[in-house]
Amino acid sequence: MSARRLLVTAGPTHEPIDEVRYLANRSSGRMGVAIAAAARDAGWAVTLLLGPSAIAPPEGCAVQRFETAAELEALLARHFAGCDVLVMAAAVADYRPLRTAAAKLPRTGGRLVLELEPVPDLVAACARSKSAAQRVVGFSLEAPATLLARAAEKLARKGLDAVVANPLATMGAERISPVLIRRDGTELRPPAAVLTKAAFAIWLVGEIERLLG
Ligand code: C5P
Repeated sequence: MSARRLLVTAGPTHEPIDEVRYLANRSSGRMGVAIAAAARDAGWAVTLLLGPSAIAPPEGCAVQRFETAAELEALLARHFAGCDVLVMAAAVADYRPLRTAAAKLPRTGGRLVLELEPVPDLVAACARSKSAAQRVVGFSLEAPATLLARAAEKLARKGLDAVVANPLATMGAERISPVLIRRDGTELRPPAAVLTKAAFAIWLVGEIERLLG
């Protein structure tokens, strides 16, 4: 049997304001990189789409870099059809500057208003175009009080097969305390309530193998 093919995205996006500044978020890329390494160790053929992150990509994975959501969108358009599972761990911008200034914006002392436009929901677009055999897994970072309800709502709205719900404090951190919600509504918890991203990644890859049947 040929190796199962995982496409995994990791890291933040940088959305340029001018030639030196950008809008970003606190994602480290650690979670998606850990998933890539765990899947590789489990014998998967792994393609990692990695944003601007200081984390070194694991050896043995095909790596493509992106900076902006538009670049990630183009990479997904090229690679999604060829995977069995997409795990969308990248923290993709929800809004980006409508225009990028050609040169560095000068300091004027007055107020500066930035106009933002919505970024298309990339994982939802992949889920809409997936084949019956493909699986799409998303991440949902939420305040603890509304974590499970909001993650379940995202799973349905984006058409995902499963979503990893995790509290906001996870972003940029070493550890994670996640719940995996599947399309049928079942909630799965790893053996420890708080675990390293590497340990969680190993558990998640096992659950993803079950999703494929
Ligand atoms: O809606 P929210 O950003 O909280 O959803 C998080 C999930 O959606 C993550 O899997 C993230 O990678 C994905 N996402 C996306 N495109 C966006 C924003 C988020 O694919 N523009």
